[in-house]
Amino acid sequence: MQYNAMQKRVILILWLLLFPSIFYIAFRYFPIGDLDWIDIGVNLLLLVLIMMLPIRLNSVSLTLERWILFYVFFHYGLLVETVFIQLGVFLLLFSDRSSTSKVMRFAGNSVIFAIVSLSSGAVYYALGGMLQEASVGRLALLGFIYASTYSVINNLLLLVYFKFVKYKAIGFWDSALKDYLITILLLPFAIALCFLAGVLEYKSFLIIGIPFLLVLFITRRYVKSEGLHEVLTSATAIGHQLAGNLRVVDVLDAFISKLKTVIPYENAYIIDLRGENLEMLRVVENGEIVEEARLFTCPVRLTVASGLDMESTNVLPNRKMISKLERCQFASNIQSVMTTPIKRGTTTEGFLCLTASNRYVFTELHSKMVGLLAGYLIASIDKAKYFEKTVEKSERCGLTGLHNYRYLERKMDEEMVRFHTKEITQLSVIILDIDHFKSINDSYGHQSGNDLLCAFAELLQQHARDGAKLTRYGGEEFVILLPDVDKLQAYQIAESIRKEVKESAFRIIPDLTADRNPIHVHMTISAGVASIPEDASDAKDLLRKADRALYIGGKQAGRNRVGVYEDKKVNTLV
Ligand code: GH3
Ligand code: MG
Ligand code: MG
Repeated sequence: MQYNAMQKRVILILWLLLFPSIFYIAFRYFPIGDLDWIDIGVNLLLLVLIMMLPIRLNSVSLTLERWILFYVFFHYGLLVETVFIQLGVFLLLFSDRSSTSKVMRFAGNSVIFAIVSLSSGAVYYALGGMLQEASVGRLALLGFIYASTYSVINNLLLLVYFKFVKYKAIGFWDSALKDYLITILLLPFAIALCFLAGVLEYKSFLIIGIPFLLVLFITRRYVKSEGLHEVLTSATAIGHQLAGNLRVVDVLDAFISKLKTVIPYENAYIIDLRGENLEMLRVVENGEIVEEARLFTCPVRLTVASGLDMESTNVLPNRKMISKLERCQFASNIQSVMTTPIKRGTTTEGFLCLTASNRYVFTELHSKMVGLLAGYLIASIDKAKYFEKTVEKSERCGLTGLHNYRYLERKMDEEMVRFHTKEITQLSVIILDIDHFKSINDSYGHQSGNDLLCAFAELLQQHARDGAKLTRYGGEEFVILLPDVDKLQAYQIAESIRKEVKESAFRIIPDLTADRNPIHVHMTISAGVASIPEDASDAKDLLRKADRALYIGGKQAGRNRVGVYEDKKVNTLV
């Protein structure tokens, strides 16, 4: 929570007015019981212990001290309760790890509880409540009203306070309801203690205080192991989901977004440590994937010397700890940092760095979770890389190294999507076929034919300009897919290839004769051109039309020609 100057002034003035007044009013106008200092001391100690043992439930920290406050109120009156609660507010400053300034937090809470104590106390006495009530029934009823008032007023004031400091409390009503239920559940402890104290005096803590502390211990352990169980379950689920992604970028994106569901980070950086230059593989700042990191920069080489833990997850919960990462620069509002090495085997190959603008955001459970997930991440990246390599291999022709028909089909589908979304306005295709290739095989052997195919593939590569997709379509047929290229341009490209082939002498080593000296052979090609949108409406049809242009305008017209598909007839422009 950040306060502006006006808010600070109002809160401090309210505190200066209310803090002394509540003690004065409680002392002057409310009854005070006989003070048993040992009992008060024992209960104060219990209060401190219980406040040091908060239970974390869904990232909300609960302390279960309220019954002690109620007991001292029922037994000793408003003044002692006020002293206890104000002390409690003071103690809270050390257990609660908020980044708000301690003075402002104390003043704000102190004001709220001064009003809560006074108003709920006033209600209790107004309804006829007395110190050390003799009837259980009356204390239960009046206590219930007192405790309800206590919780309701507390939450209403909190709501007003949050509105005033413009703080958006997520799930406010949910936690208000929980606060009420816990308050009512704790009330019987206060009532029981009141009656036991009448008999056992301060020793009653042995019967209620100590068992309460023990149960609190056990509950905390249970909650912790529940939390761990949850971490393991969700980490496994996320791991499975990661493994379902078959592209490395998808794995990274899935990782970043799944992580958000379990760790309250604001900014995330996946850093590759392997290259000479440190590379940010993925950057998320304030929930958005961005190209360049603005809230975190780091040196070219991150090493142990820069304070980074290369072996395990490191949580840096405040600015002072963050400053230990000497060479890393975090934006001034970053208060929490968690770094996790991403290891392949025993080598640290990357880093995950998570940051947030509040202090103590990352807990031990978060650090365990992120450690587990980093393991799943590397496994999923490896799997995706393997898959990408396999796909890449399956889409290549083993002879020429060009892409094959499988790749062409995928690219055509992709380009059609781009055409329909108007990212491109036209799509042309050229099919090229070597003339009388069979006779080359027959004259010089298949191996020489292969050499020629490779030489032709190389020549084609020179003509495949930016964005053009060149593939070996079949035996001695090749296709060039040309996004955003019109028919005339496509024709010109095909023509320049045809001319170059005709004018080239291709070097081959004859395979059939005993004389294995290289010779130069000449060949020609024919081509067919068609375009979307004028000739076809889908990718398959486009290829069919280009094929038709090749056979009619190229081959049938005498070969060494480029056929261009025109509506119903095929023109040969040469
Ligand atoms: P056209 O001018 O009509 O295209 O005549 P062509 O001989 O080129 O056409 P045809 O379709 O009759 O023959 C194609 C030949 O290409 C047949 C086949 O032996 C040869 N071929 C297909 N794939 C390969 C290959 O990978 N290596 C070699 N060496 N030859 C191949
Ligand atoms: Mg052919
Ligand atoms: Mg041919």
